Amino acid sequence: TITLDSLRKEFDNGRIVAVDDLSVGVEDGEFITVVGPSGCGKSTTLRMVAGLESPTSGHIRIGDEDVTDQHARKRDVAMVFQNYALYPHKTVMENMAFGLRMSTDLSKEERRERVRETAQMMGIEDLLDDKPDELSGGQKQRVALGRAIVREPDVFLFDEPLSNLDAKLRTTMRTEIQRLQNEFGITSLYVTHDQEEAMTMGDRIVILKDGKLQQVGRPKDVYENPANEFVGGFVGSPS
Ligand code: ATP
Ligand code: MG
Repeated sequence: TITLDSLRKEFDNGRIVAVDDLSVGVEDGEFITVVGPSGCGKSTTLRMVAGLESPTSGHIRIGDEDVTDQHARKRDVAMVFQNYALYPHKTVMENMAFGLRMSTDLSKEERRERVRETAQMMGIEDLLDDKPDELSGGQKQRVALGRAIVREPDVFLFDEPLSNLDAKLRTTMRTEIQRLQNEFGITSLYVTHDQEEAMTMGDRIVILKDGKLQQVGRPKDVYENPANEFVGGFVGSPS
């Protein structure tokens, strides 16, 4: 589980309130999609869960543990960004093994074996010796996903992981993520600009505006009973 409890994040001495009193719980194995206009606080929320940003106030729990003040490296969380964030001078194997080095005490050979298994599952075993700039966008995205998956994190955070891909590849990757989700039941927060992606992928959908939670619920329920006009407009409810 991930529990966000009255989470607040201010920037510039309070002149910007990026996240405003946000409380949401993600159940074990649940896939929650997060949507809202540009600047509504989606990335800031994920960055706080990952430990890359500290909340101004409020609490974050992962499982039973309050991680609010815990260092990012200690958190059992993997994050996938839209720009992949792969190390350009490392091979795919090294990129994927790197995260494992920090989070486990496996030997080097055991780490390589685990990378090979994950790579096979993701269909990228032929790319292990390549460097990121030898890869297509879709291949890089697979590697970024694989690097996150190989760590077997409790919690997965996705920040628009597919938005740089063309439509066809986006569909393929979406199916891939859903397959992994079904197989491993990973607890996920998935930020997207794509309303259709949010509605079809999410067990539940979170809608934010100006850092504030507008509604959280199953896509069908939100669609049928939007909490306000903004939500209705956003998810395309008939008015
Ligand atoms: P987008 O859909 O464009 O990615 P977002 O929902 O992810 O938007 P955030 O990046 O979380 O939005 O930003 C929320 C608000 O906080 C915005 O007003 C943004 O300008 C502000 N903000 C984010 N990071 C910082 C920062 N490091 N310093 C100052 N302001 C910031
Ligand atoms: Mg963002």
